Amino acid sequence: MSSGPDLTSGARIAERARKVVPGGVNSGQRSVPGLADLVVTATSGARFRTADGREFTDFHSAFGPPLLGHNDPDVARATAEAGTTLGHMGVGVTEGEVELAEQLTELIPSVEKVLLTSTGSEATFHALRVSRAATGRRLVVKFQGCYHGWHDSVSLNVISAPEKVGGHDPISTGILPEVLDATLVLPFNDSEAVRRTFAAHGQDIAAVIVEPVPHNVGALLPYQEFLTTLREETAKAGSVLVFDEVITGFRHALGGWQQLSGVTPDLTTLGKAIANGAPVGAIGGRADLMDLFSTRPGAPAFFAGTYNGHPSVVAAALATLRKLREEPVHEHVYRLGARVRAGLDSLYTRLGVPAVVTGHGSVFVTYFMPGDAPRTYDDLLANDAALFVGYRRRLLDHGLFELPLNLKRSHISYAHTDADVDRLLEGTEAAVQAVL
Ligand code: PLP
Repeated sequence: MSSGPDLTSGARIAERARKVVPGGVNSGQRSVPGLADLVVTATSGARFRTADGREFTDFHSAFGPPLLGHNDPDVARATAEAGTTLGHMGVGVTEGEVELAEQLTELIPSVEKVLLTSTGSEATFHALRVSRAATGRRLVVKFQGCYHGWHDSVSLNVISAPEKVGGHDPISTGILPEVLDATLVLPFNDSEAVRRTFAAHGQDIAAVIVEPVPHNVGALLPYQEFLTTLREETAKAGSVLVFDEVITGFRHALGGWQQLSGVTPDLTTLGKAIANGAPVGAIGGRADLMDLFSTRPGAPAFFAGTYNGHPSVVAAALATLRKLREEPVHEHVYRLGARVRAGLDSLYTRLGVPAVVTGHGSVFVTYFMPGDAPRTYDDLLANDAALFVGYRRRLLDHGLFELPLNLKRSHISYAHTDADVDRLLEGTEAAVQAVL
């Protein structure tokens, strides 16, 4: 790591932040009770350091992007080189953008053509807009527990209180009621609800958008039959099926969950691990849908963005993909992920704590409840949120970081080692015992 402990304390910097930044942080999800003074000064591999000179082994991984580990040297070098040689012209196309698009079309089954954005939210926004443009229809279907970004059509029903499940539960004020009315919310993994909804409204449904694995509430693993039903019902009704692979893309497989499940959507949205932490999103899919975007002269669905395809972040994506393709990244993170899940599972059995350890590949999460791995949002309502958050706060005392927010998943990166897993298992045992 380049920078040593800063003499300025985290508390003082955080206090300055609160005076000029609402709440002191730049994303609603970063406002975490108990972490107000956390000021990160350096990251490297599996670790980060704070202004107070503390060092943590990080299993939060910034909500998922750094699959290779923080500040991967190859990605950092490529990003810096592009910054110094290319800067950003914002006209025409660069060869890097073409190369990235070619790789995405080669790797991801649904992607025949692709456009770059700066964030995942922009990608899901454009997916819904172009679905409405293509079908001339109004309605969008989403699922309870899935998060697709901050824009109005999808800003509802992510982590909902039990009494809000089944109705509309906006995560923001300021959304026009008619926009909310145009979004139908269904229970995840409920094929019957999907069939019923299509029987009633199929001809009005422009798109179904889904996280194939709803990782925004930890990990609800999909029934294969559920994903197949989504494919069949949307195809029958002429609606667009959108897989939001902002988390699952690249992390679980180079071709995303669609490669693992064999279910090919019409459109795919990407972000996070595509560039190991640099701000890149993408929307790709069927050529006839993608050709509706106004990057083609005269096409009707407006698409723009000053920073789309910025050379530095494109270089970061290309360097990330090169490493994902050439090195045993997935083998490593799958092996360590399986070790973590098995280790935690036997730990909770030994301690006699009702717990379900689940996830996939590099993603793991423990819900504190009896029974099998949850498949529906309703199942998650049994989770003991106080224990979920409480042991993660205690993990900080052991130099281990999992985000202390209810239902948040944790991640393994290529930079984590077996020794990191050992320390996580030991630290978790101590942390859980301290809060029981
Ligand atoms: N889709 C999913 C599945 C996400 O998890 C997120 C962010 O967490 C988004 C979309 C939005 O991406 P961004 O935060 O880059 O706008």
